[in-house]
Amino acid sequence: MNGDCIFCKIVNDQMPSSRVYEDSEVIAFLDIAPVAKGHVLVIPREHYDPITATPDAVLGHLIQVVKRVAEAQGNALGADGINVSQANGRCAGQVVPHIHFHVIPRSDQTAGQSKWAPKRYADHEEMASFAKKIRAALQ
Ligand code: AMP
Ligand code: ZN
Repeated sequence: MNGDCIFCKIVNDQMPSSRVYEDSEVIAFLDIAPVAKGHVLVIPREHYDPITATPDAVLGHLIQVVKRVAEAQGNALGADGINVSQANGRCAGQVVPHIHFHVIPRSDQTAGQSKWAPKRYADHEEMASFAKKIRAALQ
């Protein structure tokens, strides 16, 4: 636990999140500023950063959850493709220094718009409905 880390606060329920998956080591929740609606972040409960300081076993578990989330986005949201992204360091675009994988559902309709352009959910209900669909597909 890193006291200043917002993702540690999410793990410890000190900050709200729209969780779609959790187990004893990993949680997955919706990004509040999604590049596409249904954009999920997969993180370890333990605070590690950057990827080079993250134990192999933790990375292995994270990437397995990334795969399952991608599958759920395909099934639940009809995603035609998926981006998986992971940044290390400010110069690489990292804002939150707690290792995380972005899992972003993509659609044939928006092909070519691969620029990193965060959007907003219309309201809490819309965000909750995306979380519900992905969560259901992960069960
Ligand atoms: P990165 O730039 O790779 O460090 O990505 C950090 C991501 O965390 C960004 O896409 C943010 O939108 C997202 N984020 C920041 N705060 C929260 C939060 N409280 N709940 C969900 N996602 C968040
Ligand atoms: Zn942390």
